[in-house]
Amino acid sequence: MGATLAASGEWLRRHARVVAALQWAIVIAYAFFVIVPAFLPLPADDAHWFNNLALFSQWLFWGVWWPFVILSMFVVGRAWCGLFCPEGMLTEAASRHGLGRAVPRWLKWGGWPFVAFALTTVFGQLVSVYQYPGATLLVLGGSTLAAIGVGLVYGRGKRVWCRHLCPVNGVFAVLSRVAPVHFAVDTTAWKANVASIPAHPVNCAPLVRIRRMTGPSECHMCGRCSGLHGAIALAARSPNREVVTLDANSAQRWDAVLIVFGMIGLALGAFEWSALGAFVTLRSAAVEFVVEHGPAWVLADNAPWWILTNYPETRDVFTWLDGALIFGWIVGTAVVVGGWVSLWLFVSARGLRDSQATLLANAYALSCTLIPLAGAGLFVGLSALPAGLAHGEGFRLAWLPAIRAALLALSAGWGLYLVFRRISSGGQIAQRSRVMVPMALAIGGVLAAWWPFVFRGL
Ligand code: SF4
Repeated sequence: MGATLAASGEWLRRHARVVAALQWAIVIAYAFFVIVPAFLPLPADDAHWFNNLALFSQWLFWGVWWPFVILSMFVVGRAWCGLFCPEGMLTEAASRHGLGRAVPRWLKWGGWPFVAFALTTVFGQLVSVYQYPGATLLVLGGSTLAAIGVGLVYGRGKRVWCRHLCPVNGVFAVLSRVAPVHFAVDTTAWKANVASIPAHPVNCAPLVRIRRMTGPSECHMCGRCSGLHGAIALAARSPNREVVTLDANSAQRWDAVLIVFGMIGLALGAFEWSALGAFVTLRSAAVEFVVEHGPAWVLADNAPWWILTNYPETRDVFTWLDGALIFGWIVGTAVVVGGWVSLWLFVSARGLRDSQATLLANAYALSCTLIPLAGAGLFVGLSALPAGLAHGEGFRLAWLPAIRAALLALSAGWGLYLVFRRISSGGQIAQRSRVMVPMALAIGGVLAAWWPFVFRGL
Protein backbone atom coordinates (compact mmCIF):
# COMPACT_ATOMS: atom_id res chain seq x y z
CA MET A 1 0.00 0.00 0.00
CA GLY A 2 2.72 2.44 1.10
CA ALA A 3 4.89 1.61 -1.91
CA THR A 4 1.94 1.97 -4.28
CA LEU A 5 1.07 5.39 -2.89
CA ALA A 6 4.65 6.59 -3.08
CA ALA A 7 4.86 5.30 -6.66
CA SER A 8 1.66 7.21 -7.48
CA GLY A 9 3.24 10.42 -6.18
CA GLU A 10 6.31 9.75 -8.28
CA TRP A 11 4.11 9.06 -11.31
CA LEU A 12 2.51 12.47 -10.89
CA ARG A 13 5.92 14.14 -10.79
CA ARG A 14 7.27 12.26 -13.79
CA HIS A 15 4.12 12.78 -15.86
CA ALA A 16 3.61 16.48 -15.22
CA ARG A 17 2.91 16.99 -18.92
CA VAL A 18 0.12 14.43 -18.91
CA VAL A 19 -1.38 16.16 -15.86
CA ALA A 20 -1.07 19.54 -17.57
CA ALA A 21 -2.73 18.20 -20.75
CA LEU A 22 -5.58 16.84 -18.64
CA GLN A 23 -5.95 20.20 -16.92
CA TRP A 24 -6.09 22.07 -20.23
CA ALA A 25 -8.73 19.64 -21.47
CA ILE A 26 -10.74 20.41 -18.33
CA VAL A 27 -10.24 24.15 -18.91
CA ILE A 28 -11.76 23.80 -22.39
CA ALA A 29 -14.70 21.70 -21.18
CA TYR A 30 -15.26 24.08 -18.24
CA ALA A 31 -15.28 27.13 -20.53
CA PHE A 32 -17.76 25.43 -22.86
CA PHE A 33 -20.20 24.37 -20.13
CA VAL A 34 -19.99 27.70 -18.26
CA ILE A 35 -20.20 30.06 -21.24
CA VAL A 36 -22.37 28.44 -23.93
CA PRO A 37 -25.53 27.66 -21.87
CA ALA A 38 -25.66 31.29 -20.70
CA PHE A 39 -26.36 32.36 -24.29
CA LEU A 40 -29.05 29.77 -25.01
CA PRO A 41 -32.77 30.23 -24.29
CA LEU A 42 -33.89 29.01 -20.87
CA PRO A 43 -34.96 25.34 -20.93
CA ALA A 44 -38.60 24.67 -21.78
CA ASP A 45 -40.81 23.03 -19.13
CA ASP A 46 -40.56 19.65 -20.86
CA ALA A 47 -36.77 19.77 -21.39
CA HIS A 48 -34.56 17.07 -19.88
CA TRP A 49 -30.93 17.00 -18.84
CA PHE A 50 -30.17 14.61 -21.71
CA ASN A 51 -31.60 16.83 -24.45
CA ASN A 52 -30.90 20.32 -23.18
CA LEU A 53 -27.39 21.73 -22.76
CA ALA A 54 -28.38 24.24 -20.05
CA LEU A 55 -29.97 21.53 -17.91
CA PHE A 56 -27.06 19.18 -18.55
CA SER A 57 -24.58 21.86 -17.46
CA GLN A 58 -26.65 22.60 -14.36
CA TRP A 59 -26.59 18.91 -13.52
CA LEU A 60 -22.88 18.67 -14.25
CA PHE A 61 -21.77 21.66 -12.18
CA TRP A 62 -24.07 21.58 -9.19
CA GLY A 63 -25.25 17.98 -9.16
CA VAL A 64 -22.04 16.09 -9.87
CA TRP A 65 -18.99 18.32 -9.84
CA TRP A 66 -19.50 20.38 -6.71
CA PRO A 67 -20.79 17.67 -4.31
CA PHE A 68 -18.18 15.17 -5.45
CA VAL A 69 -15.33 17.66 -5.22
CA ILE A 70 -16.39 18.14 -1.59
CA LEU A 71 -16.46 14.38 -1.11
CA SER A 72 -13.06 13.97 -2.77
CA MET A 73 -11.44 16.10 -0.04
CA PHE A 74 -12.22 13.29 2.43
CA VAL A 75 -10.52 10.75 0.16
CA VAL A 76 -7.59 12.33 -1.67
CA GLY A 77 -7.21 15.74 -0.03
CA ARG A 78 -6.88 18.66 -2.39
CA ALA A 79 -6.03 16.59 -5.45
CA TRP A 80 -8.88 18.41 -7.20
CA CYS A 81 -6.99 21.70 -6.76
CA GLY A 82 -3.65 20.44 -8.01
CA LEU A 83 -4.68 18.01 -10.73
CA PHE A 84 -8.03 19.09 -12.12
CA CYS A 85 -9.13 22.62 -11.17
CA PRO A 86 -9.41 24.87 -14.25
CA GLU A 87 -9.08 28.06 -12.21
CA GLY A 88 -5.86 26.88 -10.63
CA MET A 89 -4.44 26.01 -14.04
CA LEU A 90 -5.45 29.38 -15.52
CA THR A 91 -4.17 31.50 -12.64
CA GLU A 92 -0.83 29.66 -12.67
CA ALA A 93 -0.50 30.05 -16.44
CA ALA A 94 -1.36 33.76 -16.21
CA SER A 95 1.15 34.18 -13.42
CA ARG A 96 3.89 32.82 -15.68
CA HIS A 97 3.39 35.72 -18.08
CA GLY A 98 2.28 38.46 -15.69
CA LEU A 99 3.90 41.26 -13.74
CA GLY A 100 5.30 38.89 -11.13
CA ARG A 101 4.72 41.23 -8.21
CA ALA A 102 5.23 40.10 -4.62
CA VAL A 103 2.11 39.12 -2.69
CA PRO A 104 0.99 42.17 -0.67
CA ARG A 105 0.09 41.98 3.00
CA TRP A 106 -3.62 42.65 2.50
CA LEU A 107 -3.85 39.57 0.30
CA LYS A 108 -2.43 37.40 3.05
CA TRP A 109 -5.16 38.36 5.53
CA GLY A 110 -6.40 35.20 7.23
CA GLY A 111 -10.06 36.19 7.00
CA TRP A 112 -10.31 35.98 3.20
CA PRO A 113 -11.29 32.29 3.07
CA PHE A 114 -14.31 32.98 5.29
CA VAL A 115 -15.25 36.30 3.69
CA ALA A 116 -14.92 34.97 0.13
CA PHE A 117 -16.94 31.85 0.97
CA ALA A 118 -19.65 33.87 2.73
CA LEU A 119 -19.99 36.46 -0.03
CA THR A 120 -20.12 33.84 -2.78
CA THR A 121 -22.63 31.71 -0.88
CA VAL A 122 -25.03 34.60 -0.19
CA PHE A 123 -24.66 36.18 -3.63
CA GLY A 124 -25.15 32.78 -5.29
CA GLN A 125 -28.49 32.41 -3.52
CA LEU A 126 -29.64 35.91 -4.45
CA VAL A 127 -29.03 35.30 -8.17
CA SER A 128 -30.12 31.60 -8.02
CA VAL A 129 -26.76 30.30 -9.18
CA TYR A 130 -27.88 26.66 -9.11
CA GLN A 131 -30.85 27.31 -11.38
CA TYR A 132 -29.79 29.70 -14.15
CA PRO A 133 -26.87 29.50 -16.61
CA GLY A 134 -26.44 33.30 -16.64
CA ALA A 135 -25.96 33.29 -12.87
CA THR A 136 -23.57 30.35 -13.15
CA LEU A 137 -21.53 32.28 -15.70
CA LEU A 138 -21.58 35.34 -13.47
CA VAL A 139 -20.41 33.52 -10.32
CA LEU A 140 -18.05 30.90 -11.78
CA GLY A 141 -16.89 33.00 -14.73
CA GLY A 142 -16.40 36.04 -12.49
CA SER A 143 -14.32 33.97 -10.11
CA THR A 144 -12.25 32.61 -13.01
CA LEU A 145 -11.61 36.09 -14.40
CA ALA A 146 -10.55 37.27 -10.95
CA ALA A 147 -8.21 34.25 -10.68
CA ILE A 148 -6.61 35.13 -14.02
CA GLY A 149 -6.35 38.80 -13.00
CA VAL A 150 -4.60 37.94 -9.74
CA GLY A 151 -2.28 35.61 -11.65
CA LEU A 152 -1.40 38.36 -14.10
CA VAL A 153 -0.33 40.68 -11.29
CA TYR A 154 1.11 38.52 -8.50
CA GLY A 155 3.60 35.67 -8.27
CA ARG A 156 5.79 34.06 -10.90
CA GLY A 157 4.18 30.80 -12.02
CA LYS A 158 2.31 30.63 -8.71
CA ARG A 159 -1.29 30.16 -7.61
CA VAL A 160 -1.65 33.23 -5.42
CA TRP A 161 -5.41 33.25 -6.08
CA CYS A 162 -5.79 29.66 -4.85
CA ARG A 163 -3.65 30.24 -1.81
CA HIS A 164 -5.36 33.41 -0.58
CA LEU A 165 -8.57 34.40 -2.35
CA CYS A 166 -10.35 31.43 -3.92
CA PRO A 167 -13.84 31.28 -2.31
CA VAL A 168 -13.46 27.57 -1.57
CA ASN A 169 -9.80 27.55 -0.59
CA GLY A 170 -10.67 27.69 3.10
CA VAL A 171 -13.31 24.97 2.82
CA PHE A 172 -10.91 22.65 1.00
CA ALA A 173 -8.07 23.41 3.41
CA VAL A 174 -10.29 22.56 6.36
CA LEU A 175 -11.81 19.38 4.87
CA SER A 176 -8.44 18.00 3.81
CA ARG A 177 -7.37 17.99 7.45
CA VAL A 178 -9.16 14.64 7.66
CA ALA A 179 -7.82 13.29 4.36
CA PRO A 180 -6.27 9.82 4.66
CA VAL A 181 -3.36 10.61 2.30
CA HIS A 182 -0.78 13.37 2.13
CA PHE A 183 2.68 14.17 0.90
CA ALA A 184 4.65 13.25 4.00
CA VAL A 185 7.94 15.00 4.81
CA ASP A 186 10.62 12.94 6.49
CA THR A 187 12.58 15.73 8.16
CA THR A 188 15.33 13.40 9.31
CA ALA A 189 15.91 12.15 5.78
CA TRP A 190 15.74 15.73 4.52
CA LYS A 191 18.51 16.85 6.89
CA ALA A 192 20.63 13.83 6.08
CA ASN A 193 20.20 14.08 2.32
CA VAL A 194 19.96 17.76 1.62
CA ALA A 195 23.63 18.03 0.76
CA SER A 196 24.05 14.66 -0.92
CA ILE A 197 20.88 14.33 -3.02
CA PRO A 198 20.52 17.29 -5.35
CA ALA A 199 17.04 18.76 -5.48
CA HIS A 200 15.08 18.51 -8.68
CA PRO A 201 13.52 21.85 -9.58
CA VAL A 202 10.18 22.22 -7.81
CA ASN A 203 7.62 24.88 -8.47
CA CYS A 204 5.16 24.55 -5.62
CA ALA A 205 2.45 26.71 -7.14
CA PRO A 206 0.35 27.18 -3.96
CA LEU A 207 3.44 28.44 -2.11
CA VAL A 208 3.70 25.70 0.49
CA ARG A 209 6.79 25.75 2.69
CA ILE A 210 7.51 22.18 1.71
CA ARG A 211 10.03 21.21 4.36
CA ARG A 212 7.74 22.37 7.16
CA MET A 213 4.59 20.83 5.73
CA THR A 214 2.78 18.78 8.38
CA GLY A 215 -0.50 18.04 6.61
CA PRO A 216 -2.40 18.38 3.36
CA SER A 217 -4.27 21.60 4.17
CA GLU A 218 -2.24 23.87 1.93
CA CYS A 219 -0.84 21.20 -0.40
CA HIS A 220 -2.57 20.76 -3.75
CA MET A 221 -1.28 17.19 -4.12
CA CYS A 222 0.34 17.98 -7.47
CA GLY A 223 3.24 15.61 -6.80
CA ARG A 224 5.91 18.01 -8.07
CA CYS A 225 7.91 17.73 -4.87
CA SER A 226 7.65 13.95 -4.64
CA GLY A 227 11.07 12.44 -3.90
CA LEU A 228 12.68 15.80 -3.11
CA HIS A 229 15.94 15.07 -1.23
CA GLY A 230 14.66 11.51 -0.85
CA ALA A 231 12.42 12.87 1.91
CA ILE A 232 8.96 13.41 0.44
CA ALA A 233 6.48 10.76 -0.59
CA LEU A 234 2.77 10.31 -0.97
CA ALA A 235 1.71 8.31 2.07
CA ALA A 236 -1.31 7.10 3.99
CA ARG A 237 -2.16 8.43 7.42
CA SER A 238 -4.99 8.15 9.89
CA PRO A 239 -7.74 10.61 8.91
CA ASN A 240 -8.07 11.41 12.62
CA ARG A 241 -4.43 12.17 13.30
CA GLU A 242 -4.23 15.83 12.39
CA VAL A 243 -7.32 16.87 14.34
CA VAL A 244 -6.54 14.68 17.34
CA THR A 245 -2.95 15.87 17.65
CA LEU A 246 -3.52 19.50 16.65
CA ASP A 247 -1.64 21.76 19.05
CA ALA A 248 -4.25 24.18 20.40
CA ASN A 249 -1.76 27.02 20.19
CA SER A 250 -1.46 26.58 16.46
CA ALA A 251 -5.22 26.29 15.83
CA GLN A 252 -6.41 29.11 13.61
CA ARG A 253 -9.19 31.50 14.60
CA TRP A 254 -10.35 31.95 11.00
CA ASP A 255 -10.53 28.19 10.47
CA ALA A 256 -12.86 28.01 13.45
CA VAL A 257 -15.00 30.88 12.14
CA LEU A 258 -15.19 29.24 8.72
CA ILE A 259 -16.19 25.85 10.16
CA VAL A 260 -18.73 27.13 12.69
CA PHE A 261 -20.30 30.16 11.03
CA GLY A 262 -19.53 29.40 7.38
CA MET A 263 -19.60 25.69 6.55
CA ILE A 264 -22.18 24.90 9.22
CA GLY A 265 -24.24 28.06 9.87
CA LEU A 266 -24.20 29.96 6.61
CA ALA A 267 -24.47 26.81 4.48
CA LEU A 268 -27.49 25.63 6.49
CA GLY A 269 -29.22 28.95 5.89
CA ALA A 270 -28.39 28.89 2.18
CA PHE A 271 -29.69 25.36 1.70
CA GLU A 272 -32.76 25.69 3.88
CA TRP A 273 -34.39 29.01 2.95
CA SER A 274 -35.78 27.67 -0.32
CA ALA A 275 -36.68 24.30 1.14
CA LEU A 276 -38.68 25.18 4.24
CA GLY A 277 -42.29 26.23 4.67
CA ALA A 278 -41.17 28.53 7.48
CA PHE A 279 -39.57 30.86 4.95
CA VAL A 280 -42.79 31.03 2.93
CA THR A 281 -44.70 31.90 6.11
CA LEU A 282 -42.16 34.58 7.00
CA ARG A 283 -42.34 36.03 3.49
CA SER A 284 -46.15 36.19 3.55
CA ALA A 285 -46.10 37.98 6.90
CA ALA A 286 -43.45 40.43 5.66
CA VAL A 287 -45.39 41.18 2.46
CA GLU A 288 -48.56 41.77 4.48
CA PHE A 289 -46.70 44.13 6.76
CA VAL A 290 -45.21 46.10 3.87
CA VAL A 291 -48.57 46.36 2.10
CA GLU A 292 -50.03 47.89 5.26
CA HIS A 293 -47.12 50.03 6.40
CA GLY A 294 -44.84 50.49 3.39
CA PRO A 295 -42.46 51.31 1.93
CA ALA A 296 -44.02 50.04 -1.28
CA TRP A 297 -40.81 50.15 -3.32
CA VAL A 298 -39.45 47.05 -1.56
CA LEU A 299 -42.14 45.03 -3.36
CA ALA A 300 -40.85 46.14 -6.77
CA ASP A 301 -39.23 43.43 -8.88
CA ASN A 302 -37.08 45.69 -10.99
CA ALA A 303 -33.65 44.52 -9.84
CA PRO A 304 -31.46 43.23 -12.71
CA TRP A 305 -30.85 39.46 -12.81
CA TRP A 306 -27.21 39.94 -11.80
CA ILE A 307 -28.29 41.44 -8.47
CA LEU A 308 -31.48 39.52 -7.73
CA THR A 309 -33.11 36.63 -9.58
CA ASN A 310 -35.26 38.10 -12.36
CA TYR A 311 -36.67 35.67 -14.93
CA PRO A 312 -40.25 36.69 -15.75
CA GLU A 313 -40.43 34.00 -18.46
CA THR A 314 -40.25 31.31 -15.75
CA ARG A 315 -42.24 33.40 -13.25
CA ASP A 316 -39.18 33.45 -11.00
CA VAL A 317 -38.64 37.04 -9.90
CA PHE A 318 -37.34 38.32 -6.58
CA THR A 319 -38.51 41.60 -5.13
CA TRP A 320 -36.18 43.73 -3.05
CA LEU A 321 -38.05 42.40 -0.04
CA ASP A 322 -37.32 38.81 -1.14
CA GLY A 323 -33.65 39.69 -1.44
CA ALA A 324 -33.60 41.21 2.04
CA LEU A 325 -35.44 38.22 3.53
CA ILE A 326 -33.12 35.67 1.89
CA PHE A 327 -30.07 37.62 3.04
CA GLY A 328 -31.54 37.94 6.54
CA TRP A 329 -32.49 34.25 6.69
CA ILE A 330 -29.03 33.05 5.68
CA VAL A 331 -27.14 35.44 7.94
CA GLY A 332 -29.64 34.89 10.77
CA THR A 333 -29.21 31.11 10.52
CA ALA A 334 -25.44 31.55 10.58
CA VAL A 335 -25.66 33.68 13.71
CA VAL A 336 -28.12 31.42 15.55
CA VAL A 337 -26.59 28.05 14.65
CA GLY A 338 -23.01 29.37 14.76
CA GLY A 339 -23.78 31.07 18.08
CA TRP A 340 -25.17 27.85 19.53
CA VAL A 341 -22.11 25.87 18.46
CA SER A 342 -19.72 28.59 19.68
CA LEU A 343 -21.39 28.66 23.09
CA TRP A 344 -20.84 24.93 23.63
CA LEU A 345 -17.36 25.07 22.15
CA PHE A 346 -16.38 27.55 24.84
CA VAL A 347 -18.10 25.54 27.58
CA SER A 348 -16.29 22.47 26.31
CA ALA A 349 -12.96 24.33 26.12
CA ARG A 350 -13.42 25.35 29.76
CA GLY A 351 -13.62 21.69 30.64
CA LEU A 352 -10.21 21.04 29.11
CA ARG A 353 -7.36 21.01 31.55
CA ASP A 354 -4.76 22.11 29.05
CA SER A 355 -2.95 24.87 30.87
CA GLN A 356 -0.64 25.31 27.89
CA ALA A 357 -3.32 26.99 25.82
CA THR A 358 -5.91 29.69 26.34
CA LEU A 359 -9.64 29.10 26.40
CA LEU A 360 -9.94 30.60 22.92
CA ALA A 361 -7.14 28.45 21.49
CA ASN A 362 -8.75 25.32 22.91
CA ALA A 363 -12.12 26.33 21.47
CA TYR A 364 -10.53 26.86 18.03
CA ALA A 365 -8.86 23.46 18.23
CA LEU A 366 -12.12 21.78 19.28
CA SER A 367 -13.92 23.35 16.33
CA CYS A 368 -11.80 21.13 14.06
CA THR A 369 -13.62 18.10 15.46
CA LEU A 370 -16.69 19.43 13.63
CA ILE A 371 -15.02 19.12 10.21
CA PRO A 372 -16.73 15.80 9.33
CA LEU A 373 -20.15 17.21 10.23
CA ALA A 374 -19.50 20.45 8.32
CA GLY A 375 -18.40 18.51 5.22
CA ALA A 376 -21.30 16.07 5.41
CA GLY A 377 -23.68 19.02 5.73
CA LEU A 378 -22.31 20.57 2.55
CA PHE A 379 -22.68 17.26 0.72
CA VAL A 380 -26.23 16.70 2.00
CA GLY A 381 -27.26 20.25 1.11
CA LEU A 382 -25.78 19.99 -2.35
CA SER A 383 -27.62 16.72 -2.91
CA ALA A 384 -30.85 18.74 -3.12
CA LEU A 385 -30.24 19.78 -6.71
CA PRO A 386 -29.54 16.36 -8.26
CA ALA A 387 -32.36 14.96 -6.14
CA GLY A 388 -34.72 17.63 -7.49
CA LEU A 389 -33.60 16.97 -11.05
CA ALA A 390 -33.99 13.21 -10.60
CA HIS A 391 -37.44 13.80 -9.14
CA GLY A 392 -38.31 15.92 -12.17
CA GLU A 393 -37.30 12.96 -14.36
CA GLY A 394 -39.80 10.78 -12.54
CA PHE A 395 -37.47 8.99 -10.12
CA ARG A 396 -38.89 8.42 -6.65
CA LEU A 397 -36.16 8.81 -4.04
CA ALA A 398 -37.94 7.53 -0.94
CA TRP A 399 -34.62 6.30 0.46
CA LEU A 400 -32.95 9.72 0.26
CA PRO A 401 -33.91 11.07 3.72
CA ALA A 402 -32.58 7.91 5.36
CA ILE A 403 -29.28 8.20 3.47
CA ARG A 404 -28.95 11.88 4.34
CA ALA A 405 -29.77 11.22 7.99
CA ALA A 406 -27.29 8.33 8.13
CA LEU A 407 -24.54 10.49 6.61
CA LEU A 408 -25.10 13.29 9.09
CA ALA A 409 -25.35 10.85 12.01
CA LEU A 410 -22.12 9.11 10.99
CA SER A 411 -20.29 12.39 10.65
CA ALA A 412 -21.64 13.51 14.04
CA GLY A 413 -20.38 10.28 15.57
CA TRP A 414 -17.00 10.78 13.90
CA GLY A 415 -16.84 14.29 15.36
CA LEU A 416 -17.57 13.03 18.87
CA TYR A 417 -14.95 10.33 18.44
CA LEU A 418 -12.42 13.02 17.50
CA VAL A 419 -13.31 14.94 20.67
CA PHE A 420 -12.93 11.78 22.72
CA ARG A 421 -9.55 11.05 21.18
CA ARG A 422 -8.35 14.61 21.86
CA ILE A 423 -9.08 14.19 25.56
CA SER A 424 -8.55 10.46 25.95
CA SER A 425 -5.46 10.95 28.10
CA GLY A 426 -6.96 13.75 30.14
CA GLY A 427 -8.29 12.67 33.50
CA GLN A 428 -11.30 10.96 34.98
CA ILE A 429 -14.71 10.31 33.48
CA ALA A 430 -16.22 13.37 35.18
CA GLN A 431 -13.53 15.59 33.70
CA ARG A 432 -13.95 14.13 30.24
CA SER A 433 -17.70 14.53 30.35
CA ARG A 434 -17.19 18.26 30.94
CA VAL A 435 -15.78 18.32 27.42
CA MET A 436 -17.85 15.62 25.74
CA VAL A 437 -21.31 16.70 26.90
CA PRO A 438 -21.10 20.31 25.64
CA MET A 439 -19.69 19.06 22.34
CA ALA A 440 -22.57 16.60 22.08
CA LEU A 441 -24.97 19.51 22.64
CA ALA A 442 -23.23 21.55 19.94
CA ILE A 443 -23.44 18.67 17.47
CA GLY A 444 -27.02 17.81 18.51
CA GLY A 445 -28.07 21.40 17.78
CA VAL A 446 -26.62 21.20 14.27
CA LEU A 447 -28.39 17.89 13.63
CA ALA A 448 -31.67 19.39 14.86
CA ALA A 449 -31.20 22.33 12.49
CA TRP A 450 -30.72 19.89 9.59
CA TRP A 451 -33.79 17.85 10.53
CA PRO A 452 -36.44 19.79 8.53
CA PHE A 453 -34.23 19.82 5.43
CA VAL A 454 -33.43 16.11 5.64
CA PHE A 455 -37.00 14.96 6.17
CA ARG A 456 -38.88 17.39 3.98
CA GLY A 457 -40.75 15.97 1.00
CA LEU A 458 -39.09 16.32 -2.39
S1 SF4 B 1 3.80 20.66 -1.39
FE1 SF4 B 1 3.53 21.89 -3.24
S2 SF4 B 1 4.77 20.85 -4.80
FE2 SF4 B 1 4.48 19.41 -3.13
S3 SF4 B 1 2.68 18.18 -3.72
FE3 SF4 B 1 1.98 19.87 -2.42
S4 SF4 B 1 1.40 21.48 -3.83
FE4 SF4 B 1 2.67 20.05 -4.98
